[in-house]
Amino acid sequence: MSDKYIDLVNGGFGGTVAKKLGLPQPAPLRRYKPGAALVPGPVLVLGPDTDQTDAVASALLGWDLEVHRSPSTGTARWGAVVVVLSEVDDASQLGEHVLPLSPALKQMARGGRVVTISRAASGATTPTAAAARQAVDGFVRSLGKEMRGGATANGLVLAHESTTPADDGVLAALRFFLSARSSFVDGQLLTIGDAPVLADVTTSDEERPLAGRVAVVTGAARGIGAAIARTLARDGAALVLVDVPAAGEHLAKVANEVRGTALQLDITAPDAGSRIIEHAIARHGGLHVVVHNAGITRDKLLANMKPETWESVLAVNLAAQLRINEQLLASEHFRDAPRIVSLASTSGIAGNRGQTNYGASKAGVIGMVRATAPLLAAASGGTGTVNAVAPGFIVTEMTARIPFATREVAKRLNSLQQGGDPSDVAEAIAFLASPAGGAVNGQVLRVCGQNLVGA
Ligand code: NAD
Repeated sequence: MSDKYIDLVNGGFGGTVAKKLGLPQPAPLRRYKPGAALVPGPVLVLGPDTDQTDAVASALLGWDLEVHRSPSTGTARWGAVVVVLSEVDDASQLGEHVLPLSPALKQMARGGRVVTISRAASGATTPTAAAARQAVDGFVRSLGKEMRGGATANGLVLAHESTTPADDGVLAALRFFLSARSSFVDGQLLTIGDAPVLADVTTSDEERPLAGRVAVVTGAARGIGAAIARTLARDGAALVLVDVPAAGEHLAKVANEVRGTALQLDITAPDAGSRIIEHAIARHGGLHVVVHNAGITRDKLLANMKPETWESVLAVNLAAQLRINEQLLASEHFRDAPRIVSLASTSGIAGNRGQTNYGASKAGVIGMVRATAPLLAAASGGTGTVNAVAPGFIVTEMTARIPFATREVAKRLNSLQQGGDPSDVAEAIAFLASPAGGAVNGQVLRVCGQNLVGA
């Protein structure tokens, strides 16, 4: 969706005026186009001179990238910097490995990436090691706020001590963070487990990673849901699109566009899960991915909240997902590397005035995802995952209902100074739904441009 302000402040005259007045100058983001280069320039790999750092560098070379180990290469505009910190267990060593970033940051390409790879503080055996590992968190979140020109900084956190930075699950997530698929993900740390990825990580985002997979998207008639359907279809999935009967006409249009099938269904129906499973099996011969996207807002201050306003939001955003998941977990048709991705929201993490009902429902989704992850993994021989994506301000009909002045301010309150596009959320979901996302389970990935609220 076009953001006229971005066009204006990136034009000659508009840009000069914006600079003089000290107005935000958001950069157009580097968004995914099939066939485009993974990163917009050479990649610098920093970190201790050890096998783990070498292994990451050689994996990147294997992806046909130009890889350097030192920032002093003259005039190159860095496409990305990968900082391998998985062996740093003393914060006094951190500076030695992150300060070489300093000159590189002045020479980042537009839409460049910084990605750290570190270990979870929870796995540290000493306070010194835990401090060093947790320090990376604050470093990445702060650096995200310093990036310019649509560049971002994110981190991968290895959950298990036995995982190494060049394991497939880590590389698959690294590839997502480096790529244009992660354009609106900034200042985030994603935890990587040790489940198999069942995909060739060298090409996981270029090929049709969802070929042969059947995906269901709820709330697919418009907005983020329609974008998810288009993105999953582009990535090769066969689609079942679900929405309420009142949205039937729009639903049919999107279904035609992505050559999927439409299922008119209110997800709060007690048998919604079994109807979804039956439809997918009957029309597409299988079921592999369910994206719980349908959601509603009914904003009111708690002081003015009617019971039915509270209940309707909890029923659609949370209770329906819980019930459908129970039916999925019990189904023998949902065992082949199954994927569930739920839509949470930054409102469920940071809270939002007028959204006690919505915030509660979306925080509930996060709790549900964490607790369901081990259950689906167990039901599927360790191949299944359940994750949530938490969008920040995304330009859709839902956010179009926010009064103009509030909306324009809310849109810019993030490190990238702009609202996200529905396709930004869809790209993150496509990664988590793909076989390559197999090592990410029970996580919440924010797609919010590093929203300043609760960032
Ligand atoms: P939207 O209102 O534009 O679309 C939601 C879709 O869900 C609609 O087509 C609607 O008909 C469908 N739906 C609602 N209730 C349903 C039901 N009971 N059964 C079946 N379908 C139903 O919303 P959106 O902005 O595209 O948001 C999509 C999801 O992303 C929601 O879960 C929302 O909470 C979440 N989200 C959006 C934003 C944002 O900025 N737009 C931010 C954070 C989270």
